[in-house]
Amino acid sequence: MNKPNISFEFFPPQTPEGAEKLTATRKILATLKPEFFSVTFGAGGSTQERTLETIQRIHQEGYQAAPHLSCVGSTRENIRALLLTYKDMGIKRIVALRGDLPSGMGSIGEFQYANELVSFIRAQTGEHFHIEVAAYPEFHPQADSAREDMLNFKRKVHAGANSAITQYFYNADAYFSFVEECRKLGVTVPIVPGIMPIVKYAQLARFSEMCGAEIPRWMRKTLEGYGDDNVSVQNFGRDVVTQLCEKLIAGGAPSLHFYTLNQANASVEILKQLGYSA
Ligand code: FAD
Repeated sequence: MNKPNISFEFFPPQTPEGAEKLTATRKILATLKPEFFSVTFGAGGSTQERTLETIQRIHQEGYQAAPHLSCVGSTRENIRALLLTYKDMGIKRIVALRGDLPSGMGSIGEFQYANELVSFIRAQTGEHFHIEVAAYPEFHPQADSAREDMLNFKRKVHAGANSAITQYFYNADAYFSFVEECRKLGVTVPIVPGIMPIVKYAQLARFSEMCGAEIPRWMRKTLEGYGDDNVSVQNFGRDVVTQLCEKLIAGGAPSLHFYTLNQANASVEILKQLGYSA
């Protein structure tokens, strides 16, 4: 089977121990030769320092590091300063997002939507950065309609995004249909599936509820049936997600982006089953 490029996403650790653990995780994942490691950014700048520190470490280790940058709750001045810091460090890729402001936390700030951030990055730094944006095969939970959401996605691409990474999903048809509709709208950039390995069901159910990703009924029922039996959850998750990846690769997915939640094992097991080797 064809083996497209892969990339891995982390969140910035909160403690020195977490940072050490993440370094160990990265060492394992690096053996699979990913194109880049990305690091999330808490909306409103809540993880700004930790995201920057984690990006610095990855960059110093010699890997391609891609900071996420979410604009909600931020100012132009703050975003400009961060962009210049990343540019001076030699960072070449940014994942540009709107983000979600936690309820009760400050005001929206100077950017309302991610397309404004993409335009701002291009205006400030020209073609320096490869800009990734988010895409939603099952549609963003706040979207007025599927079509509006797709048109808003197109806006981000027109503003200068080079490629997109999707929210995770477990139904390959949702991805293929989204890509097909985007192509009809004249959006030609690569749309990379975001892959969420299944490690703990309760955590996955919580995330999915928040971000609008559907866990198909047959999967939900099976996972619920395992209760606290995490070994069965993980074995089932590994097989289901491997099969999803196989379908995506066979259907032409340009690359796969793994949401690792800072753990190596689940992604490694899936990738080994797909024939990737260290
Ligand atoms: P947008 O593209 O701005 O879209 C948000 C909503 O507004 C959509 O419903 C869209 O249809 C609508 N919309 C967009 N533009 C317009 C417009 N011009 N006019 C009217 N309506 C519009 N969050 C974080 O806080 N930190 C992260 O690091 C992070 N990383 C992520 C990585 C990936 C790959 C993905 C898929 C998501 C990530 N998120 C992250 C979550 C993301 O911030 C949320 O899903 C957020 O709600 C939307 O961000 P967006 O960039 O897609 O927003």
